Order: sequence, then structure tokens, then C-alpha cells
Amino acid sequence: LLAADGTVAATIFAEMSALAVRTGAINLGQGFPDVDGPDFVKQAAIRAIEDGRNQYAPGDGVPELRRAVAAHQERHYALAVDPDNEVLVTTGATEALTASILALTGPGDEVLTLEPFYDSHAAAIGMSGATHVTAPLVPGPDGFRLDVEALRAAASSRLRMIVLNSPHNPTGTVLTRDELAAVAAVARERDAIVVTDEVYEHLTFGAEHVPVVTLPGMAERTLTISSSGKTFSFTGWKVGWLHGPAELVTAVRTVKQFLTYTSGAPFQPAIARALDDDETPRALAASLAERRDLLCSGLEAAGFRVTRPAGTYFVMADATDLLPRLGLRDGVELCRRLPELAGVVAIPATAFCRPGSATAQALSAHVRFTFVKREEVLREAVVRLAGLR
Ligand code: PMP
Ligand code: GLN
Repeated sequence: LLAADGTVAATIFAEMSALAVRTGAINLGQGFPDVDGPDFVKQAAIRAIEDGRNQYAPGDGVPELRRAVAAHQERHYALAVDPDNEVLVTTGATEALTASILALTGPGDEVLTLEPFYDSHAAAIGMSGATHVTAPLVPGPDGFRLDVEALRAAASSRLRMIVLNSPHNPTGTVLTRDELAAVAAVARERDAIVVTDEVYEHLTFGAEHVPVVTLPGMAERTLTISSSGKTFSFTGWKVGWLHGPAELVTAVRTVKQFLTYTSGAPFQPAIARALDDDETPRALAASLAERRDLLCSGLEAAGFRVTRPAGTYFVMADATDLLPRLGLRDGVELCRRLPELAGVVAIPATAFCRPGSATAQALSAHVRFTFVKREEVLREAVVRLAGLR
């Protein structure tokens, strides 16, 4: 968490968004939509404020949201979830992740993530004092796929937890049932807990999202996390949740009560309303598929190599062919110079890797772009990027 000179490091997203503001570049770095979620959800939050739901909510979340989470899991995945004992509302998926890792791991434990990984996963493992081990997602003709042999090799007898993420940020990979079965087998064999970050569960483009908790022997060891930020385009409301076996949820609740105590009261009934609505995420995924194609074609025309992601709102672009022509060394240099060269901001893939790891080296020429921006913004970005050729 500390930079080499001892200062506290800003997250890569904060740093790159600040660069976009400073230079006036189009921000395809930090992943947040430039169109808000539906009006009826905003109105529900306004009503909740006017109705006086402005003091502390219950620590585990308002009952109607916990019930809506359980009903959502039943409707989409045929999961039976007890809203009173098996659901915890959190301040975004970020708090659900951090509280889970802090509650259930510590020094001497190993926690395995995919690599690349979403940055907060590694930061939370660092805060817990556990040792971070990784299994790579390796780029190939079918996109980034899990190296199952490396996963097995990384899972020692000290493995306490596997932190999964599918659909996966930053690669856009949707893990297949076979990949998930390999993860589940390792978890069962090592008696490890699985914490699965499924915030992009509805943002897939033809690929099936399989919650790992639905695999045999996984219900008793899995905490499943999601968030209204991604599904309903309210990233600023910070309403997330997790569900799992009561004793694991109780452990996480114990940590949560000293992180934030409770989460934003009037937003919770509004998100409970949103969770009944399957059409909004479906329409978002359909429009994202078109925006993905627009940006990917533009990146290819600009000289990047891309494989189209099956989910999320991110694409990894390989700049191997472009870098020598631009006289640049790697993706970090490219992202620093991109505002000036093309008026666009992106994130280097190595920000999602352990410094100096084999995966960081393999992905040194990759950069991540988001396509959760309005079509006209993406069109303008594509025109600008064409100038790199
Ligand atoms: N996990 C992943 C994989 C994400 O991409 C993000 C954020 N964008 C989060 C967690 C954080 O979600 P929240 O804003 O709900 O905390
Ligand atoms: N999850 C978003 C991304 O990956 C950003 C969230 C953040 O800034 N922490 O870009």
C-alpha cells in the first residue's frame, strides 16, 4: 500500500482519472458509466429520504433488500438463501471483499487469486497479513483462460481462501463451468473458503455466468458477492451485498460492524426495488455488446491486438505491435503518454498484477480500456486512437 518513497499510493483508478481531468482526455480508464441507472430507482431513493429513512440502517441491511437479494438468487440461479441469516448488505462489493478477507484470513494463511486481479483483492490480502499467491489467466485465441495446472500447483496445504472473480476485471473472461469445477476441486481438497466477486454477473455477451456456489460441495464454503453499482449503474451509491453460510456471514458481519457499522440507509430500499427489475441489466448488457464491438474494432484499426471479452465492460488491448513504432517501452509508458498522443486515458494491465511477477511480465504491453461510455464518446475515442497508426 506504500509507494517506494514511503508515501501512500493512490489507486491506479484515482491516478488515471485525475490525469484525464488534468489533460481533458477521454477517460476510458476507470470503469464507471456515463449514463445513470433508471429513474424509478432514483425516485425510490428520493422517497426513502423524504420518508425519513435517514438514520442508521440495521447492521446487516434493511430487510427488504436482504429479501430482494435472496429472491434474485432464487430467480436467476435456483439458490435457496435465507434473507435473515445468510445475507449481509455492504458498502459496495469492495467492503464485502475486504471484510470477508479480514474476517477469515490472517498471517500464516495463503489466499489465492487469479492474476491479473482487481486491485482491491490484493490490498485486502495485504491488510489481513495473509500471503498472496496467484494462478494466471493466460491470453490465447479464446481470450484469457485459467491455467488449471498452475492453479493446482499454487494451492499448498496453507491455502485458506480462494478469491475468484467472474466475469473478470480486467480481462473480461467469463470462467467456464470446467474452469470453475477445477477451482471447486482445489477448494474442496484443501478445505478452503471461496470468496467470489460476481459484480459483473449480468454483464455478459452470450457466455453463461455460472455462480461457483452452484457447484457440488461449494454451498458450505462459498461467499458470493455482488453490487448494484455495476448491475444498475449506480456506482456512487455503494450498495453491495454478500450471501453464504450463516457462520461465515456472521464472521464477516463482525468485521463490517467495525469498518462502517451500517451502509447508506435510503439507498437500500431503492436498490431492493431495482433488484426486482431484470430488464435494466439485460438492456445494459445488450447495449454494451455493441459498444464492445465498436471499441474493439477501433482498437484493432489503431494497431492493437484484441480478443473480444465475453463479459464486464473492459477490454484488454495488446500494444506489442504499436510500442516500437511509438518509441515506447511498455503499457505503463503508453498509458502515461496516451493523453498527449491520442487524448485518451487507459490503465496498464500491470496495475492488476503483482510487481515483477511472471504475469506482469507477460502482460507488460497490455492496457485496459472501458467501453461503458456513450456511443458518441466511444466514436470520438476511436477517431483519436486511429491517429496512433
Ligand atoms: N470488484 C470488481 C471486480 C470491480 O470491478 C469493482 C468495481 N468497479 C468492484 C469490485 C467494486 O465494487 P463496488 O463499487 O460495489 O465497491
Ligand atoms: N472497478 C472500477 C474499475 O475497475 C473502478 C473502481 C475504483 O475506482 N476503485 O475501473
